[in-house]
Amino acid sequence: MLHLEGLSKTYKTGDAALSDATLDVPKGQIIGLIGPSGAGKSTLIRCINRLVEPTAGKIMLGDVDLVKLGKTELRHQRRRIGMIFQEYALVERLTVMENVLSGRLGYVPFWRSFLRKYPPQDIQNAYRLLDRVGLMHQADKRADALSGGQRQRVGIARALAQEPELLLVDEPTASLDPKTSRQIMRLLTEICEERGLPAIVNIHDVPLAQQFMQRIIGLNSGRIVFDGSPEELSDDV
Ligand code: ADP
Ligand code: ADP
Repeated sequence: MLHLEGLSKTYKTGDAALSDATLDVPKGQIIGLIGPSGAGKSTLIRCINRLVEPTAGKIMLGDVDLVKLGKTELRHQRRRIGMIFQEYALVERLTVMENVLSGRLGYVPFWRSFLRKYPPQDIQNAYRLLDRVGLMHQADKRADALSGGQRQRVGIARALAQEPELLLVDEPTASLDPKTSRQIMRLLTEICEERGLPAIVNIHDVPLAQQFMQRIIGLNSGRIVFDGSPEELSDDV
């Protein structure tokens, strides 16, 4: 589904943040990235959709090498990849529903009351997603009225509204308390399993990774140093 080959990144200011990462992500697999701060986890995630430009390597999403694409084609292909962020990246002054629908367009329209301009099936689909993440009754609330856990649920629904083939998830629970973190990880992984949706999750917290991820990639100093199941990891450390 996704194949990375020799993916490398050296920032202008420093040493190699990512060196020669080669990785196959099959359909439906939920992969956790772990490793110390500065290991290259965010860089790896951000290279995949070229939020960070890789210095070398291939990023095959199906048959398409994302590294080779120009701006317009990249924008098109990025629609296949859903992003979920640590700080949610919601539009605070818009409602929950409007935030979810923005996933459908890929940007937030500047006009108000844009709900009316959406096809009814998009709106129905957004309600279904809000129901799935447990926010049906918050649809008309402004995003800035929600708790952290609720915001991340909106983030998940928005990413799904895009109907992605792959999810990239960057420290989804780093701003949440332990109990909420487990709830969010459970929801996220259940949804991925239901849909056969592959995900790469920069997960930070090793016990959470062991509980919820199907496969774990360990990074250190920009290199992949572990690739295996959660059980193998516990034998290793
Ligand atoms: P992690 O997510 O595992 O904490 P990062 O991918 O954020 O690691 O960082 C990997 C390395 O790249 C670190 O040495 C970090 O300082 C460096 N780095 C990350 N982003 C940038 C940037 N925008 N410019 C320069 N160096 C960066
Ligand atoms: P994280 O590890 O959660 O990705 P950081 O706190 O390392 O976040 O970095 C925050 C921001 O600063 C990111 O956008 C990252 O790319 C950038 N950054 C990290 N390290 C460096 C660095 N050495 N030089 C410049 N920018 C950096």
